[in-house]
Amino acid sequence: MSIQVFGLPVSRGVAIGRAVLVASSRVDVAHYFVDASEVESEVLRLRDARDEVAAELTTLKAEVSEESHAELAALLDVHLMMLHDEMLAEATKQWIIERHYNAEWAMSAQLEVLARQFDEMEDDYLRERKADLEQVAERILKALARVADPLASSGVHGVPRDFAGEDPLILVANDIAPADMLQFKRSVFTGFVTDVGGRTSHTAIVARSMDIPAVVGAREASRIVRQDDWLVIDGDAGVLIVNPSPIILEEYRFRQRQSEVERARLNRLRHTPSVTLDGQSVELLANIEMPRDAGAVIDAGAVGVGLFRSEFLFMNRGGNLPDEDEQFIAYREVVEALKGLPVTIRTVDIGADKPLERMSAHELRHEHTLNPALGLRAIRWSLSEPEMFGQQLRAILRASAFGKVRILIPMVAHLSEVHRVRQALDRAQAELRARGVPFTDVELGAMIEVPAAALMLPSLLRYFDFVSIGTNDLIQYTLAIDRADEAVSHLYDPWHPAVLHLIAQTISQANALGKGVCVCGEMAGDPAFTELLLAMGLRSLSMHPAQVSSIKQRVLRCDARALSSYLPTVLEADAPQDACAALMRQR
Ligand code: PEP
Ligand code: MG
Repeated sequence: MSIQVFGLPVSRGVAIGRAVLVASSRVDVAHYFVDASEVESEVLRLRDARDEVAAELTTLKAEVSEESHAELAALLDVHLMMLHDEMLAEATKQWIIERHYNAEWAMSAQLEVLARQFDEMEDDYLRERKADLEQVAERILKALARVADPLASSGVHGVPRDFAGEDPLILVANDIAPADMLQFKRSVFTGFVTDVGGRTSHTAIVARSMDIPAVVGAREASRIVRQDDWLVIDGDAGVLIVNPSPIILEEYRFRQRQSEVERARLNRLRHTPSVTLDGQSVELLANIEMPRDAGAVIDAGAVGVGLFRSEFLFMNRGGNLPDEDEQFIAYREVVEALKGLPVTIRTVDIGADKPLERMSAHELRHEHTLNPALGLRAIRWSLSEPEMFGQQLRAILRASAFGKVRILIPMVAHLSEVHRVRQALDRAQAELRARGVPFTDVELGAMIEVPAAALMLPSLLRYFDFVSIGTNDLIQYTLAIDRADEAVSHLYDPWHPAVLHLIAQTISQANALGKGVCVCGEMAGDPAFTELLLAMGLRSLSMHPAQVSSIKQRVLRCDARALSSYLPTVLEADAPQDACAALMRQR
């Protein structure tokens, strides 16, 4: 039976494929296909891992029996029994043989199947055995990590490998952390669905940057969907269709083809200068997460990087932060790829929905119990880690010798922070000078993400060369709703008059003072806001590379001067969205 599940649209387009259910805690398990010639050795790898766990459990059992812990010994017997049960051992093997999944993926796929069966059991005792099963699977996954994986050293984990006849796959999970999304970039999946998350959570942002259809905040999705179900993700409407009828499937295949044609058409605008009908030039920049995204910036026809979210360099490293040299190499890679076009590097924005693995138990406890979005995040965290901050500033400054680099500071709210940032920058420059390392003057910018910063803009601009409006956080902090929480996502409203006033005021004050101003939050890449932002006087927008062409198309059709006369009506309206739509219709 076909079921529709409603969530939040994240990334445009349609994805059609088979469901792969993954427990959130196992999203980071490697997912890749093994070649037909490798199936046998992969099955052996699984068997070796299982044997290792069996030996481990048998030894443990002997130890506890000696100490006469009868209950523990009985539990280990249950684990040993599960380990050899056909439903785990044999069925996992079949995922490798029939689907060519790598052993870890096969294990977690079978675990999901069995976990469902346990959940549906009437008997409490049996239902509770699910935890035992998970412990056994966990042991096997750990053992697999130890049993030599021939692909591990080649670094090809997660890379789709040719496997003729394989259907496209869609990942379904309760949650995916932003750090895990980075792995997704090189994975076998063509789309994903999560139960939790908001439209501008960082998980959603990374999905958008990869231009893969996705739905977040689909609440019950991972419970409703079964392993292998056919799924359609309608990324425009935020709808997931489970087991669509043949007619619906055909309709979506048609829409998929249409959007490919539309993409190809928009792509032709790549080299067209972004200028309005009345001759106003509008700078379209790109947002990136990793150095390897630099190619997409050039391909999209963006004229620079408006936001390099450098914190993604700090993720998936088991807490070992990149040192000055490693960061310098990463920044230089982007700067060189951009060949003289500006690269705006934001200093790390760690915290909130992007915690670091190395955070202490104390910090993590606070992350979970207090309010991480209001905690030690972004520049607050950097200033609390002066050594790390110094390394990052020196690395960025060194990259400036290879092109045009700008530094952007996230979540500025206090002048005291500004002074400390300036001091840290002066110190970093002095250290490089003392070492005889070349660098050039870099512009320093502030992200306007906290209402306090927008309200004191003239004071801030005494110390900054430019500002970039981070609308994702500005909305979160103005409306007091967590951007990553689907329970309040209906209150996340970029059209809220208070938000629009803060944005309009920031743009006009920066323009009046002759300072650069850009919008780099998700509003910049949403065509619904292009006219309004131009009407506010904005001439620089930074977005995901995949969004550049459609925003450019919008810019090319605008008369900026005429638009500016609409602004007061929209800003004074109770429902700015309706007012804006009405004015656009009159044009
Ligand atoms: C923003 O807040 O709008 C922004 C661009 O930064 P991030 O989404 O990374 O918080
Ligand atoms: Mg932000």
